[in-house]
Amino acid sequence: MKVAFVGLGNMGGPMALNLHKAGFQVRAFDLSIAACDLLRGQGVCIAESATAAALPDVDVVVSMLPASHHVEALYLGDGSAPGLLEMIAPGTLVIDSSTIAASSSRKVAKAGEKRGIAVIDAPVSGGTGGAIAGTLTFMVGGHASHLERARPLLEKMGSNIFHAGEVGAGQTAKICNNMLLGVLMIGTSEAIALGLVNGLDPKVLSEIMRRSSGGNWALEKYNPLPGVMENAPASKGYVGGFGTDLMLKDLGLAQENAAAVGASTPLGGLARNLYAAHSLTGHGASDFSSVIKLFQNRS
Ligand code: NAD
Repeated sequence: MKVAFVGLGNMGGPMALNLHKAGFQVRAFDLSIAACDLLRGQGVCIAESATAAALPDVDVVVSMLPASHHVEALYLGDGSAPGLLEMIAPGTLVIDSSTIAASSSRKVAKAGEKRGIAVIDAPVSGGTGGAIAGTLTFMVGGHASHLERARPLLEKMGSNIFHAGEVGAGQTAKICNNMLLGVLMIGTSEAIALGLVNGLDPKVLSEIMRRSSGGNWALEKYNPLPGVMENAPASKGYVGGFGTDLMLKDLGLAQENAAAVGASTPLGGLARNLYAAHSLTGHGASDFSSVIKLFQNRS
């Protein structure tokens, strides 16, 4: 099966590599030369553009881009160039794994439907560790038969595949999850910072909370304090991982959705404001767990 993969960042790079290792004929593209070089060095075929990756004959296009406008420009065009949906053959399957607005997913899927192209939203959870290990969780929105066509690829990149509902439902599930993650990371950071000020050993405190009623994913896999967990972004200078600005984008999507449907999400709103403040002080590109720095500066 021939697969075009567009977006080879912290997540897309290892996901594309897993498809390549599984035997799919992957042609990949990213605007970043460094991201392309990294994958080329591991044997993945790199194309000169997204169009060159997808034409003339791919069976599936997978995208892993930062935000809604990147995905809409790729598939629908940006005014200066036509979108992929106008160029790829009817019958092609499109899997968009980026975290974007559900309304954007629906817009792209509708345009695909007009040309006989199946589009599913399949955002992921599990972080860069899950992307590398091929153990991501996929939250899929779209027709069940389209999910079945995508399953052989998703199974090579993830270990949990959920059908959330119709197109856009994957994105809605994803923003619910990430709103909770954003809140949990802030709560975990606050608790660790409080323990530190009181002279507790952060490793001991983290282990106590991990095995107690405060236990959560941040304490299990992604401790925000450097030195507590060897492989967490915190212990690698907050480089790589999941950027603060990407978390900010997801919390913005959650707030927009809550406003649209009349839901009350006060903690999500507060978390969004705290990540925004953190981003404004120059931490937008750092891993989101660096938000603990907000609680470490005691004046
Ligand atoms: P990233 O910033 O590391 O990678 C995005 C890549 O897209 C970059 O390499 C960039 O050059 C490329 N890109 C942008 N526009 C492009 C275009 N038009 N054509 C080709 N390439 C283009 O981001 P990431 O961490 O890999 O996240 C990607 C998506 O996955 C985001 O929507 C994010 O919210 C979501 N996500 C991230 C994580 C994580 O832990 N990092 C986890 C789950 C979901």
